[in-house]
Amino acid sequence: MSAMPTIHLDRLRDGALHPIGEKVRRGERLSAVDAITLFRTPDLLGVGHLADAVNRAKHGDVVTFASNQHINPTNVCVLRKTCVFCGYARLPKEEGAYRYSIEQVLAEAAQASDSMTREFHIVGGLDMQAGLGYYTTMFRALKAAHPLVHIKALTAVEIAHIGRIEKMSWTDVLIALREAGLDTMPGGGAETFSAAVRDVIADRKLGGADYIGVHRAAHALGIRSNCTMLYGHVETIEDRVEHLTMLRDLQDETGGFLAYIPLAYHPDDNALGVTLGRQGTSTTGFDDLRNLAVGRLYLDNFQHIKSHWIMVSTALTQIALAFGVNDIEGTVVREKIYHAVGAQTQQGMSLQELLRLIRGAGKEPAERDSFYRVIRTFEAAPAAVVGAAA
Ligand code: SF4
Repeated sequence: MSAMPTIHLDRLRDGALHPIGEKVRRGERLSAVDAITLFRTPDLLGVGHLADAVNRAKHGDVVTFASNQHINPTNVCVLRKTCVFCGYARLPKEEGAYRYSIEQVLAEAAQASDSMTREFHIVGGLDMQAGLGYYTTMFRALKAAHPLVHIKALTAVEIAHIGRIEKMSWTDVLIALREAGLDTMPGGGAETFSAAVRDVIADRKLGGADYIGVHRAAHALGIRSNCTMLYGHVETIEDRVEHLTMLRDLQDETGGFLAYIPLAYHPDDNALGVTLGRQGTSTTGFDDLRNLAVGRLYLDNFQHIKSHWIMVSTALTQIALAFGVNDIEGTVVREKIYHAVGAQTQQGMSLQELLRLIRGAGKEPAERDSFYRVIRTFEAAPAAVVGAAA
């Protein structure tokens, strides 16, 4: 499905949105200046109307999710002291540090045998003891035990880390991981690409150009990936637009991104939150919705915009379905990384909870595979269930 969006200019209260609305109506690409206007206008409902119109033209009322399971095999990370926004990582001998054996990974993954899990989402720290062999052994074992489960694993930052410790190119690391069972890559580790921002929040982490470079290498091999942006810390509006422009440019070049997922910064239990005096104050719902909606409008070459309910809550995710979002985080089972920095959400969701959330927004739930192809739709729920809160 892809029709022209139906835009009602009279629903845009801020006149500055009118020329943007005309462009959206004509299917014209938005400029960086337009994106800055979308981030600055107080007319959130106007931005939402535009994003919703574009989303409806692409996807109608269908909202997808995956039956996935997160596995975080190690929280040991060499950047523990320098990624100041992170509350998950530990030094090797620090209290709470862990690295799963392959048997422990298999034990955690065993839930997939009697659940509906179709995708393992595997990310962790930059652990000097977790090199290429650790992951190739893990992926082979997972595929042997769960041959039908897709492996979406290792951020660009982790791929580059393995390359560094094994003295291999990104491409060679990716080829070896693919041979062992890696199917696609997640989009984490992007943070905000701006060098000035990285100097403050993650000065030793893989830079923005290299994050793009690893994804370019993956796409060249036919490995599809997601991408993200961490917002709500020290970045400016211009930093956000620069970041989105880099993602849009790579998508023009390769077409390899499956989805864009804005990630809200959580200030608890990390050094940056203390420095900023922000503990206990997460991003606002207004900014969460705006980031999703601007992603839908500016990233015109992306099919899928996803809301991560773990970071922004299930209630806000339900509202986001009217702000350009067509996909939501799935069942997850046991999330650890954002719960380490104060996320108050559940660690997983049942199928019934996901269906109730989507139907409660007047949308049609559909389960998808890891390539965003619909694999199952659901009978309409009885009226009493449709009206229930998520
Ligand atoms: S954000 Fe990632 S790379 Fe940085 S300290 Fe945390 S786990 Fe390590």
